[in-house]
Amino acid sequence: MSYGNYADIIIDISHENLDKTYQYAIPEEFITKAVIGSLVVVPFGKGNRQINGYIIDLSSEPKLDVNLIKPIIRVEDAPVIESHLIYLAYWIKEHFGGTINDALKTVMPVKKAVKIKEQRSIRLMVENQKAKDLFYEFQSKKNQAARVRLLGALLEKKVLDYDDAIHKLKIPRSTILSLEKKGITKTVSKQVYRNPIQEQEISSSKVILNPDQQQIVDDIIEEYKKGIRTTYLIHGVTGSGKTEVYMEIISSVIAQGKQVILLIPEIALTYQTVLRFYRRFGDRVSILNSKMSQGERYDQSLRAKNGDLDIIIGPRSALFTPFMNLGLIIIDEEHENSYKSETTPKYHAVDVAIKRAELTGSSVILGSATPSLESYNKAKKGIYQLYTLNKRAKEALPPKVWIADLREELKNKNKSIFSMKLKELITDRLEKKEQVMLFLNRRGYAGFISCRSCGHVIKCPHCDISLTSHNNGRVICHYCAYEEGMPKRCPSCGSKYIAAFGTGTQKVEELVKKEFPHARTLRMDTDTTKQKGGHEAILKAFSEHRADILVGTQMIVKGHDFPKVTLVGIIAADLSLHAGDFRAGERTFQLLCQAAGRAGRDALPGEVVIQTYQPEHYSIVTAAEGDYISFYNQEILYRTMMQYPPVAHILLLLITSKVEKEAEKASVLIGKAASHFVEEHGLKATVIGPAPAAVTKINDIYRRILYIKHNNYEELIGIKNYLEGYYKFSEYFSKCHLQFDFNPMSGY
Ligand code: ADP
Ligand code: ZN
Ligand code: ZN
Repeated sequence: MSYGNYADIIIDISHENLDKTYQYAIPEEFITKAVIGSLVVVPFGKGNRQINGYIIDLSSEPKLDVNLIKPIIRVEDAPVIESHLIYLAYWIKEHFGGTINDALKTVMPVKKAVKIKEQRSIRLMVENQKAKDLFYEFQSKKNQAARVRLLGALLEKKVLDYDDAIHKLKIPRSTILSLEKKGITKTVSKQVYRNPIQEQEISSSKVILNPDQQQIVDDIIEEYKKGIRTTYLIHGVTGSGKTEVYMEIISSVIAQGKQVILLIPEIALTYQTVLRFYRRFGDRVSILNSKMSQGERYDQSLRAKNGDLDIIIGPRSALFTPFMNLGLIIIDEEHENSYKSETTPKYHAVDVAIKRAELTGSSVILGSATPSLESYNKAKKGIYQLYTLNKRAKEALPPKVWIADLREELKNKNKSIFSMKLKELITDRLEKKEQVMLFLNRRGYAGFISCRSCGHVIKCPHCDISLTSHNNGRVICHYCAYEEGMPKRCPSCGSKYIAAFGTGTQKVEELVKKEFPHARTLRMDTDTTKQKGGHEAILKAFSEHRADILVGTQMIVKGHDFPKVTLVGIIAADLSLHAGDFRAGERTFQLLCQAAGRAGRDALPGEVVIQTYQPEHYSIVTAAEGDYISFYNQEILYRTMMQYPPVAHILLLLITSKVEKEAEKASVLIGKAASHFVEEHGLKATVIGPAPAAVTKINDIYRRILYIKHNNYEELIGIKNYLEGYYKFSEYFSKCHLQFDFNPMSGY
């Protein structure tokens, strides 16, 4: 550890203009406490306002006139950020945009030390017989009732919780003290960590791995023991036993004295999942989730830091758990959107995990049934090592998938939202007293225009992205701002059944009730799950078979096991297929595979009906066949042709303002500056837009976007840095805000 007389400090204000360090002097008394990563209080500005900051570097040399350097006021008792995490914060800021302050807050999930709960207990200090004698002695005297209660309880239990003694047994503190003085009892205090997992009986529930699983485990462990550190991708269908593989590898890595981070999407972080790990690893494993209090989070990071934990399981933010001996990071369901931060810095957990692994000498394992195009592409290029598990571990048959062509239904005069096949199968399940899930994949839904007769979808001639309808009766591309009038007839077949596509879960539920009046239905979407616990209550009711049909958005397809569900209906696969962004096909494939995985998980075989106007679309055909490789091969062609990620990189700029004109003006100026920079430096980058965002206004804040496409990420960072400076130092943008998103995952 190096000590310095001066510290470079980042001031804790998220304001772009303060995105630099300030030097402060370290008073003698703080020399040992002020280390890199410490949270400090310093005087700031003309008024010497007291403000928080983080030490990010130390030196013995003043950078200015010594008389101008102010001293640190105090060093807080907060957890110190590890120096490699500070480096990681820099890297995140550089690669994903935002200020260093934003990045530091990202890597340090717990800001302040939270008082650790103290557990006090009272113990008996004399032998049993002696205690009994005393008990009878007190009993025979007057005014000794409290002593009798206390001794009686201690004779029964040996150890008594202090708070229980006071509150439940109503024993005065003075009584406890007096017995302690006589040497009969003793109050002992122990710091306890708040373990969010309640004690459970631990049984070693190890399965015997099948040869495919064993091969992966052997390979990875062998390399690990040889000191090889790299990134692995396990492509394994749902239920193929990936989690068992993780557990086996984890157990070997921790046996080598290392620690492990396991990321799981929050929605899949269910009690059952955690229990599996708890059963295997006992209280050396802990979890983090968004429902935990600051105190609980603080304890977990302290336990991690002190080496009292081997494994932490959690969502994206668990990636920054301050392990001192990190050896492995596993990211399950690595394709999930939730691994991309929605707030600045908009980092992707996979990239950051690989960087942290590099800084700490760890390996990374990514796992998915439907890997992201990015990861699979890297695996094919040999950047990641690929393993495949293509059979379910337990002999469960894959579901039978039907594709219902909604164009045909219209021709046959069926105008309802249920195809004949879906109606027939729902009726069948209701008779058999089995359960049905109806799924409306509305994510990213942006009002695309399609023909109900032939399935034709209106697309942007420049971007090959579905155009979306606007209030003003025009249709527009949210990438390049191309627009045209709303067509009256289908440009492909001339039919007049062309319109913005849309239906909601509530509407679907109503139609279910009309069509199947005797079925009991439940609905799960953002409306019905708003109340706390709403989500769990609906799932519980459905799992107890208190309803026959569950209607819902993608919320219902993730990770829940309902053994009695033997039919899954996808109302309109087109909703996510034409969501107006370049990942629409990939997301549809993932959602359909996941939805199909919900049907027939247990003894009963399952069926799936996918309703669509484009039954020939490769995302739908390959999902129906459960054929990831075919999907990948076709999707990567599209990405190559259009130069979309992972073939090239896209930097999205979101420009927001309360004043519509300002946002417009700023987006045009920034677009021009970008084009200039690109031209001046002879870069092969393309500037697309500006265009209004798909969501043009949120909370009265106007949103415009710009895209810059380039196949060199490092050069794209250069463009970002230039634009960041341009935005920061120009007077035009005082009423605007600029955010960056590299290779965006969500619609804007
Ligand atoms: P995934 O993580 O790929 O979805 P899991 O590891 O959760 O798969 O396995 C699915 C189910 O199969 C679990 O109930 C698991 O206990 C069981 N399983 C996995 N591997 C085996 C095996 N080798 N033998 C028996 N059961 C297994
Ligand atoms: Zn048509
Ligand atoms: Zn376009």
